[in-house]
Amino acid sequence: MQAIRVRQLGPPEVMQLESLPEPRPGPGQVLVRVQAAGVNPVDAYLRAGLYRPDLPLPYTPGIDGAGTIEALGADIHALRPGQRVYLTWSITGTYAEKTLCAAAHVFPLPAQISFAQGAALGVPYGTAYCALFQRARAVPGETVLVHGASGGVGLAAVQLAHAAGLRVIGTAGSDAGLALVRREGASETFNHKAPDYRDRLLELTGGRGVDVILEMLANVNLGHDLSLLAKRGRVVIIGSRGRVELDPREAMGRDAVLLGMSLFNIAPQELASAHAAIAAGLEQGTLRPVVSRELGLAAAAAAHHAVMESGSLGKFVLLP
Ligand code: NAP
Repeated sequence: MQAIRVRQLGPPEVMQLESLPEPRPGPGQVLVRVQAAGVNPVDAYLRAGLYRPDLPLPYTPGIDGAGTIEALGADIHALRPGQRVYLTWSITGTYAEKTLCAAAHVFPLPAQISFAQGAALGVPYGTAYCALFQRARAVPGETVLVHGASGGVGLAAVQLAHAAGLRVIGTAGSDAGLALVRREGASETFNHKAPDYRDRLLELTGGRGVDVILEMLANVNLGHDLSLLAKRGRVVIIGSRGRVELDPREAMGRDAVLLGMSLFNIAPQELASAHAAIAAGLEQGTLRPVVSRELGLAAAAAAHHAVMESGSLGKFVLLP
């Protein structure tokens, strides 16, 4: 089979297409024929050596994917060969024609959701659900600011929060991004490049602030986020690419809570619960993954350059 291989950590160009033997499923494992692989920023951090410089080499990148079940290991009864599925974690990497997963990480893909959309579910929707409901414990009627709403995680959060009865405010860095965020469920949007948007956002809430902030770029925004929070507000730090200075008094005076989150820490029961809710949203049509670019497997390096730039407007996927 064809697969992307990384033989040394480094820039996107270290990813090369190679021929590999097909993996075989062991007990409790599923072999999936990959129709689409999701490209996430974490794939780029891992390839660059930022997260796990000790990553065993060579390896095939890719956490997210969707496709059909090719073969099942012993003792799996809830899935069947040929079934359309998406996956939330891969043992052998999804930038490949076939990939091996644990059965607990494989979920049915409804017929109305394309494989490319299925590849946009695992990390983005899992992260958005976990941040909103398992970490911030957002409830209907609250106001959430999705700070960075036009990307993979942000759009998932906008759709999930809107469907759950929250008032959604979203930010983006372009007119196209702002229109997309409104289309997917935000009632108000702001351009995070505008100099005065925080003042206008506070005005919009009558000076009260928002109950929850989902933060995609904490190193830029966290210091200011605290002053946008209502009393007992919560900020969930989802993304950060550097250090930040903040005034603890802004948190103190509000009884505010700063919550970190990493999808790598999610417990098996929380993951199952998140994907049960995501399955319901896909069936009901409240969740509709937005795919902005589809590229061949050989374009993995170009996709990794693009995923680290702004203006994603949804999810990039690779089609093996
Ligand atoms: P993405 O698709 O590239 O989206 C990035 C988002 O950040 C876009 O909406 C972008 O808006 C926005 N952004 C750019 N400048 C901003 C600013 N100054 N203030 C607020 N937002 C800004 O990436 P993603 O997949 O959604 O992931 C978002 C972040 O979360 C990444 O850093 C990723 O590594 C992280 N993440 C963390 C976890 C976790 O478990 N903690 C899981 C998944 C992702 P424009 O492009 O419109 O400017």
